[in-house]
Amino acid sequence: MPDSPPKRTRREFLREALRAAGLLLFSGGLGAVLSRGEAEEMVWQIDPEKCTQCGQCATECVLTPSAVKCVHQYAMCGYCKLCFGFFRDQRPDDGTGAENVRCPTDAIRRRFVEEPYYQYMIDEPRCIGCAKCVKGCEAYGNGALYLQVRHDRCLNCNQCAIATACPAQAFVRVPRSKPYILKTRKASG
Ligand code: SF4
Ligand code: SF4
Ligand code: SF4
Repeated sequence: MPDSPPKRTRREFLREALRAAGLLLFSGGLGAVLSRGEAEEMVWQIDPEKCTQCGQCATECVLTPSAVKCVHQYAMCGYCKLCFGFFRDQRPDDGTGAENVRCPTDAIRRRFVEEPYYQYMIDEPRCIGCAKCVKGCEAYGNGALYLQVRHDRCLNCNQCAIATACPAQAFVRVPRSKPYILKTRKASG
């Protein structure tokens, strides 16, 4: 007759039970860690295709100046000599005086590249997010200027005051790992 399997002692039984419980606890903990990792924090951002440049980004943010700034997507820019993000459509001449330019805070820098091209750069600390330049670029250019929430400033309010006021529902939630929305339209030349 074959030997019957050795009986486990109470101590061995308890040790195995504890090992199994430990594995269960570990896998439960790992699951919790994974699910925490999956639930990535979301932040506010402006969908530039929805924004109608109403101007409320400058006035509704809880911060002064607003956490919303103009950004310039250089890959799209036509480097126009007469940039209507920079110039008013009605103006005395083509000089760079305040009477000719659109920005109320002198936040757009203009640099000559080579005839007939100029480059336009946003001086961000001066920008109040008023969207006047964005409106001009949308109307006469190719939309290379647009508004974005800057995450080095934004408080990520639970309910963004601008999102509440925005008439175009242009404020959306995006993952913190991809906090900006790039425009995709190509320069028309
Ligand atoms: S409030 Fe909305 S529509 Fe108005 S400028 Fe801001 S994002 Fe654009
Ligand atoms: S016009 Fe308004 S949005 Fe554009 S750079 Fe000046 S302050 Fe910023
Ligand atoms: S979340 Fe708060 S700080 Fe950020 S843009 Fe909206 S109102 Fe301003």
